[in-house]
Amino acid sequence: MTGQVMFDSHVAILLDTAAGLVNVLTDGGDRGRPYTAPRADALPEAIAAVLPGEPAVSMEEALYLAGTTLKVRRVFEAMDGRRDDEAAEIVNALVISTGARPQLNRVPGEPWQVHFHGADDTLSVGWSAGFASALTLAIGSDLGGRLGVCQAKGCDRVYVDASRNAVRQFCSRSCQSRTKAAAFRARSATRPPV
Ligand SMILES: [Zn+2]
Repeated sequence: MTGQVMFDSHVAILLDTAAGLVNVLTDGGDRGRPYTAPRADALPEAIAAVLPGEPAVSMEEALYLAGTTLKVRRVFEAMDGRRDDEAAEIVNALVISTGARPQLNRVPGEPWQVHFHGADDTLSVGWSAGFASALTLAIGSDLGGRLGVCQAKGCDRVYVDASRNAVRQFCSRSCQSRTKAAAFRARSATRPPV
């Protein structure tokens, strides 16, 4: 993960986790195949699997995080479509609803680090506040363009572009090669026969 070169590592983890939740919890296309997100009883487990350390997630927390995730998806879509105003509006509303704030935390013997907390330290509000904070830092810097939606046909998964030159267009290597192969076939088909 080279994202740490640009984003503070804590922010990079938050953005990657946010993208991971969006991809698990939103319907659409996943690398060329239709994707249906887990529903109801399957929700807490699906969310826990994305969160670092796989914590226990209650149904109430899962529903709250699912609500946050829908908003985060809209932020990725807005930034991908260069609709920064729309993205900023959603993120600011999320900052207010979660009570997001910075706090200095320290592991004994290590330097103080900026972490983000919410109005309370429940799993759902804490992570949602973290996502809101990380998104403000991304969009409020020159790194906002790194929040993207896969350009491949049949795919709408989101990603955080950690490439050196910010050239990423796809969620995965699979989508990149599928798109390249399709473009190659299209070129070959239009070429006159020899
Ligand atoms: Zn993709």
